[in-house]
Amino acid sequence: MALVSAKEMAQVAVAGHYAIGAFNLNNLEWTKAVLKGAQESNAPVIVQVSCGAGKYMCGFKTVTDMVKDVIESQKITVPVALHLDHGTYDAAKECIEAGFSSIMFDGSSLPIEENIEKTKELVAICNEKGMSIEAEVGAIGGEEDGVVGMGECADPDECKSVADLGVTMLAAGIGNIHGVYPEGWPGLRFDVLEAIKAKVGDMPLVLHGGSGIPDEMVQKAITMGVAKVNVNTECQLVFAKAVREYIEAGKDQQGKGFDPRKLLADGTQAIVDMVKYKINVFGSANKA
Ligand SMILES: [Zn+2]
Repeated sequence: MALVSAKEMAQVAVAGHYAIGAFNLNNLEWTKAVLKGAQESNAPVIVQVSCGAGKYMCGFKTVTDMVKDVIESQKITVPVALHLDHGTYDAAKECIEAGFSSIMFDGSSLPIEENIEKTKELVAICNEKGMSIEAEVGAIGGEEDGVVGMGECADPDECKSVADLGVTMLAAGIGNIHGVYPEGWPGLRFDVLEAIKAKVGDMPLVLHGGSGIPDEMVQKAITMGVAKVNVNTECQLVFAKAVREYIEAGKDQQGKGFDPRKLLADGTQAIVDMVKYKINVFGSANKA
């Protein structure tokens, strides 16, 4: 199946009160594992790469080709959207060129006028190409900023003005954080989510920093309009743990256990299991 825009899957998810899992990719193993997990769950899925991961994988064109080829060779039949996570303006343009089916433009570091102007331009291009586009309101904190905050909240009126630019999905801070959650984190701000939802109606909302938020909290947010949940850190943690256990058990020193296909096998399977677990939590199993 060809790559699809995330527009229809996100809108159907809002109406059905479930969410699409959006899993970040890091390499071939990740790509195989995420697509396998989605296929085995019969779930529509978003695979996404950050600018840094795109660079790591030798560019967005390599990523597009890899994802398309894995879909074909592994006979993946569930809908797959290939999405840029936290894209700069230049990266968004590159991904459109490279054949992505969805982008996120994160203009949160730009002055608001410039953010709006560039978002409008990208919305027009995406509409013309049948691609989906996610925008971010305010900034979603986390350890990538050097400091781990307790989570910021978007202004509902600002959410409304960005939603009105014609974007497909909206990422808004509701106390969520990227990376591992700090001790004493007070939890998601459902009052803020409710206020945003009241302003933006059926616009699919995106929950960033989905790793480490208790499942019941994520599920409550989904009932309130969240239709895309990003997962990155949790897959990294289970991959690292499984590879570490393999090495600590001395398996790399038995026979041909050092073969990367063996060395990374448990880690790859751990990602498959995590993807399937998350898809169940999000309610998107059997929605393909
Ligand atoms: Zn994010």
